[in-house]
Amino acid sequence: TAAHLGAIANARALNAYVLETPDKALAMAEASDARIARGEARPLEGIPLGIKDLFCTEGVRTTACSKILGEFVPPYESTVTSQLWRDGAVMLGKLNNDEFAMGSSNETSAFGPVVSPWRRQGSDTKLVPGGSSGGSAAAVAANLCLGATGTDTGGSIRQPAAFTGTVGIKPTYGRCSRFGIVAFASSLDQAGPFAKTVRDAAILLRSMAGFDPKDTTSVDRDVPDYEAAIGRSVKGMTIGIPKEYRVDGLEAEIDALWQAGIAWLKDAGATIVEISLPHTKYALPAYYIVAPAEASSNLARYDGVRYGLRVPGESIGDMYEKTRAAGFGREVRRRVMIGTYVLSAGYYDAYYLRAQKVRTLIKRDFDLAFDAGVDAVLTPATPSAAFGIGEKGSSNPVEMYLNDIFTVTVNMAGLPGIAVPAGLDGQGLPLGLQLIGRPFDEETLFALGEVIE
Ligand code: GLN
Repeated sequence: TAAHLGAIANARALNAYVLETPDKALAMAEASDARIARGEARPLEGIPLGIKDLFCTEGVRTTACSKILGEFVPPYESTVTSQLWRDGAVMLGKLNNDEFAMGSSNETSAFGPVVSPWRRQGSDTKLVPGGSSGGSAAAVAANLCLGATGTDTGGSIRQPAAFTGTVGIKPTYGRCSRFGIVAFASSLDQAGPFAKTVRDAAILLRSMAGFDPKDTTSVDRDVPDYEAAIGRSVKGMTIGIPKEYRVDGLEAEIDALWQAGIAWLKDAGATIVEISLPHTKYALPAYYIVAPAEASSNLARYDGVRYGLRVPGESIGDMYEKTRAAGFGREVRRRVMIGTYVLSAGYYDAYYLRAQKVRTLIKRDFDLAFDAGVDAVLTPATPSAAFGIGEKGSSNPVEMYLNDIFTVTVNMAGLPGIAVPAGLDGQGLPLGLQLIGRPFDEETLFALGEVIE
């Protein structure tokens, strides 16, 4: 813990942490030392972790990297983080993210962008770590923690993991409790870990997962010993390769990596089959209706009364308006406007209802593949390697949204998905592959992920 606190202090230029909690960290670490000395070590005893600032931490400022939460200090702890502390982990601090987890580059944070520790060969251009869990990905990649929490609504764990050469898993919807996690799009949000290896991710997920009566969408199913899946044979497994993911303009390097992944799994004894997920092309547009719709509803609570920031006004309505105008950044305001529009009378049927129907069709595509015997689906995690800060999306938000093309389907269908580092591009930047599994079968993803890693 002391070594990590030192590393964090030396790497402030990355802007990965928005709050460091050294006193808390050292006190937790000392308690862990005492436990170890007594021979009472718990599964994560003394393991220093970083926590995405979307997780409420009791007595520790939590902002979702939005001005609107101001200096909000939650009086309660999220279930996921409380389970990590229950198992002995140590909190180093809170990690930067896109404001309310809306973004794919960590450039929408009220605390400013996170800088990836990676650089293109022979270039000083500062690169994004991906988003929205950019602080988590950068912190793990730069050795500023041993693991980190993230959340994934449309790819926010898997895309930054791919950009930084780390492992990130979004478990099945319902696997981890959402209690105490700042809500973005409640039917899509899931928590998951970032780690340096597939094994570490398995160990962390076991502590994070589990039924919680405080989240009505959490599922009452036993949490397996995920670590036991590492090293399990993948012989005889069937891996689906969806032809619709070979999108127009797929970079040659990404395609080559995908082919390499196919070859590794084949060598390990898996059977490769081509599959069709015909509704894939509608996933991104449908996601960008469903997610903003839910966000606009979730963000209605930030009214200047209940949390953080308040800008005084002449009437209560005026106060709401001024507070929300000052407290929300550009991307969040855009999402609220899209969301309220697609939910409004007259447009609801044309947009929101249609998007929900598309969502069912996307889920059905995967169901059919799994029913036909596919154990997992292999795809690239992202359409490109990390890009430069300020390089994408500033004039055209859709350009940024396209980053999620391979990841949003998984959230729409509620399935588990893992991103595993699989190689470097021609400029020395990490690239990741994604494995998508059957509901609640994270174990297969860990077993296959370890083959690719
Ligand atoms: N980039 C996507 C979005 O902006 C996904 C974000 C996320 O998964 N939290 O909505």
